[in-house]
Amino acid sequence: HTATRKYDPVKYKTPTGDQLHCKGWIQEAALRMLLNNLDPQVAERPDDLIVYGGRGKAARNFEALDLIIKGLKDLENDETLLIQSGKPVGILKTHPDTPRILISNSQLVPRWATWEHFDELEKKGLMMYGQMTAGSWIYIGSQGIVQGTYETYAAAAHKHFGGTLKGTLNVTAGLGGMGGAQPLAITMNEGVALIAEVEKWRIEKRLETKYLDLLMEDIDEAIDRALAAKQKGEVLSIGVCCNAVTLLERLIERKVIPDTLTDQTSAHDPLIGYWPHTISYEQAKVLREQNPKQYTDLAYDSMCRHVELMLQLQQLGAITFDYGNNIRARAQERGLQNAFDFPGFVPAYIRPLFCEGKGPFRWAALSGDPADIAVTDQVISEMFPGNKSLQRWLKLAKEKIAFQGLPARICWLGQGEREKAGLAFNELVRTGKVKAPIVIGRDHLDTGSVASPNRETEAMMDGSDAVADWPLLNALVNTAGGASWVSLHHGGGVGMGYSIHAGMVIVADGTEAAAARLSRVLRNDPGMGVIRHADAGYDTAKETAAEHGLDIRTRLN
Ligand code: NAD
Repeated sequence: HTATRKYDPVKYKTPTGDQLHCKGWIQEAALRMLLNNLDPQVAERPDDLIVYGGRGKAARNFEALDLIIKGLKDLENDETLLIQSGKPVGILKTHPDTPRILISNSQLVPRWATWEHFDELEKKGLMMYGQMTAGSWIYIGSQGIVQGTYETYAAAAHKHFGGTLKGTLNVTAGLGGMGGAQPLAITMNEGVALIAEVEKWRIEKRLETKYLDLLMEDIDEAIDRALAAKQKGEVLSIGVCCNAVTLLERLIERKVIPDTLTDQTSAHDPLIGYWPHTISYEQAKVLREQNPKQYTDLAYDSMCRHVELMLQLQQLGAITFDYGNNIRARAQERGLQNAFDFPGFVPAYIRPLFCEGKGPFRWAALSGDPADIAVTDQVISEMFPGNKSLQRWLKLAKEKIAFQGLPARICWLGQGEREKAGLAFNELVRTGKVKAPIVIGRDHLDTGSVASPNRETEAMMDGSDAVADWPLLNALVNTAGGASWVSLHHGGGVGMGYSIHAGMVIVADGTEAAAARLSRVLRNDPGMGVIRHADAGYDTAKETAAEHGLDIRTRLN
């Protein structure tokens, strides 16, 4: 149902500077972040309103986009705009401390929560897939995921290679919106990355934004170059233009065993996100349009083969993990019994961070001026001098991250830290040390905001992987606390039927009222994660709760 209209770079240009186009800074922030999500420097396919992650969109169609923009401009400071799967549906009277926007994306009653039913609704123009930060207007380009990916590879380096990926070969696939962060995250950890990507334009995009070092077309040459780099301990990333299955088959034929192996193709969405290896790219594009069922069938075959090859390489010694795209479930749906024999990245590397309330905290400078981010970087660096990995990240990010759209920064911060940072940013705005308000948010892949049994909540200690009360409570608590906009989504990361998750964004506009809201929201939001993990039995979470005075009521002591 995507309209025939195209993205208009003049009409939809993100406003910058300190002048308002709306009736308050919260509405203005939402307007700028919505348009920033669609900025061609940020979005993967702005003509289709697709931001990242298969078909993760910011608005249902161009008419809905125009209506949202108008709604945000009309919106008073005691009203709330309601967004239903990418389309505005009404403005209701609320009060100044409530969210200005409430968003619900892709929610389906569980029995109907399949891609087939979603596709029908999407065709009728009744639904939109919001992914995570696409439909909740806080995507900041590949940087958003770089630190998470960096942390994952750092944790792997720590666990398996003495703290660095130097001299290791790291194989993966997919250089899309999120997957595009992989080469940089690997080279930041001093390793060699060899990454299969079917679409040449994606590889070129990563070269332009400096996330990737080399584009190669010949598989054998790419493998040779990667091996030579590994041998010399050279830091290098190579995007090889081929199907992931073809690359893995060739590695096995040549008996080249990667040190680490994962995948970030959009396997969560077999129709839009995954290229089958048995037909050419050109044929696949035609088939997808003309016979979606047959396309999906071929994609499933390929995903099954892909996981088989990953399992084989794991047997041969590659440290293999799923990177949150649900490819193991796709292979299992196709009959591969042992698809889950390699772990997901959360239980393997990330859960200990979640237990401390840590997650992908991020912010953007609404002024559009990179100097504002430099000021915030400085503040964060001075605020947490003892946090070595944060200091290392900030230094690397400043050197290596090219901003896309509004200048932004991401830092994994935990309980206590986020509140401190938010209040400090509000002070920067109040005292005029930055030129306009700062907008603060996070990914839905966070400590207390998601139920996703094949990803964030895989293998929970108490078996509560599929319990989705937590993200619902998270959205409610952030609404109660006065976040600027709150969103509740279904299907992000892993596809329809596999996840429920919530997002929140809060604006630091330098006012006292904002300080009170920031304090509440940035304490409660990670606090939900700490409570969720403490309830599941994780000791680190219980310790974090005690340290930060979180009033946990799950057991009588
Ligand atoms: P995207 O749709 O923007 O990019 C996917 C890329 O994979 C495309 O460039 C596509 O050409 C390529 N691709 C598809 N099939 C391929 C194949 N067989 N061989 C080689 N390349 C192939 O998606 P994205 O935003 O990069 O996200 C990728 C996946 O990672 C999604 O499933 C997403 O849900 C998941 N994800 C994981 C995390 C995490 O932290 N682990 C975070 C966000 C997204």
